[in-house]
Amino acid sequence: MRAKRKPVEVIKAKCIGCGLCIDACRFDALSLEEGIAVLKEELCTACGLCLKVCPADALYLERPPKKERRERVEVVEEGAPSPLDAYKGVWVFIEQMEGKAARVGWELLGEGRKLADQLGVGLAGVILGHDVTRMANETFAYRADLVYLVDDPVLHHYRTQPYAHALVSLVKRHKPEIVLLGATSLGRDLAGAVATELGTGLTADCTGLEIDPETRLLMQTRPAFGGNIMATILTAQHRPQMATVRPRVMRMPQRDSSRQGQIIREPLNLMEEQVVSKIVDFARDEKDAVHLADAEVIVSGGRGLGSPKNFALIEELADALGGVVGASRAAVDAGWISHDHQVGQTGQTVRPKLYVAVGISGAIQHLVGMQTSDVIVAINKDPNAPIFKVATYGIVGDLFKVVPALAAEARARLNGGSGSKKAE
Ligand SMILES: Cc1cc2nc3c(=O)[nH]c(=O)nc-3n(C[C@H](O)[C@H](O)[C@H](O)COP(=O)(O)OP(=O)(O)OC[C@H]3O[C@@H](n4cnc5c(N)ncnc54)[C@H](O)[C@@H]3O)c2cc1C
Repeated sequence: MRAKRKPVEVIKAKCIGCGLCIDACRFDALSLEEGIAVLKEELCTACGLCLKVCPADALYLERPPKKERRERVEVVEEGAPSPLDAYKGVWVFIEQMEGKAARVGWELLGEGRKLADQLGVGLAGVILGHDVTRMANETFAYRADLVYLVDDPVLHHYRTQPYAHALVSLVKRHKPEIVLLGATSLGRDLAGAVATELGTGLTADCTGLEIDPETRLLMQTRPAFGGNIMATILTAQHRPQMATVRPRVMRMPQRDSSRQGQIIREPLNLMEEQVVSKIVDFARDEKDAVHLADAEVIVSGGRGLGSPKNFALIEELADALGGVVGASRAAVDAGWISHDHQVGQTGQTVRPKLYVAVGISGAIQHLVGMQTSDVIVAINKDPNAPIFKVATYGIVGDLFKVVPALAAEARARLNGGSGSKKAE
């Protein structure tokens, strides 16, 4: 339960009866009686939204000083339920395309399971689409207790309006306290639209999620100020608490096909004629994409390479290890390699079995994209380079000597001297 904060006070002498505060209040705590705003104290959460819209300064809220704020949230006051307490459970949006789930949904179920267990609530997967019922079993196998399913032809292709409509309706009806989505192009688009419609907070691109054991709030950690600090953000006054997390940031959970759960089917209640955007054609991106996020071995080059032609060394080692080529932003910004290869905060988040960082210093913006790799090998001539703090194995030396030697050794050991084969 939440602490009861002092409710808003109506200064009757100032009230002009415009009713703006009534529209602004999400908790129906305000009404007009004889042209004057009247407050139902038991419904007021002291969120302060009404104060923002009042043109006559007729509302007053004694805001506690910042330091005290958190203590007040922790105080339990008997008999004072907050409207926020009606929200229960952790939800994960299971992104899919043509019935094929994006891996990030399973990763988030693994994380969602931990959060739900800590809160002592259920974990649900939300599946929206057409002909997607079969995905429910997979959702249970990755730890969900429950599936909310909206299966409708209107949801065949992703479009913001019908998907947001479906998710917003589900949230309003079933009131989850936490909703997690993948920070993919689709997830980012949907999460923003849904949070705006629900009037709640959204923390994008989280790298860590935890429950504060005292307040039960979701602590959403993400890089801020250009990646110079890690900020932990709370959605204290609104529900649900919404966050997006990039693919590969969270560990993939173990699959357990014996698990079963309950499916709750809901209608979409939206006709195709009501959807503004139409899919005219579907053009696939034919360009030779770099699949960094799915790679098991990545060899990345940085500014230490000195020139674009030296990426040939990186390609050589990547090929010998059966991996793909990554890069730091410095190398990308210098025009040595395309942005598709960039690893890090403004590049891709990766989680390979093996990450080899060559001539990369280890700036925080690079580390946030690769530090959860299983094994990290760093090659740098500077023994104090920050990359060594996250490295499993560090090689202090000149990359122009170390990399060719490693490539030759890898070829000899993995392929008997020729051709490329995957590293074990
Ligand atoms: C908002 C923002 C977002 C960013 N996003 C990203 C991002 O997504 N990804 C990213 O990577 N960066 C990002 N950056 C940039 C980041 O801060 C660093 O500038 C960048 O990562 C540095 O790249 P680097 O390590 O290749 O270069 P440097 O920092 O210049 O390091 C080069 C390293 O090579 C070593 N070296 C030099 N010669 C040799 C040699 N012969 N042998 C061995 N080692 C050698 C040096 O000792 C040095 O450690 C971002 C920055 C900002 C402000």
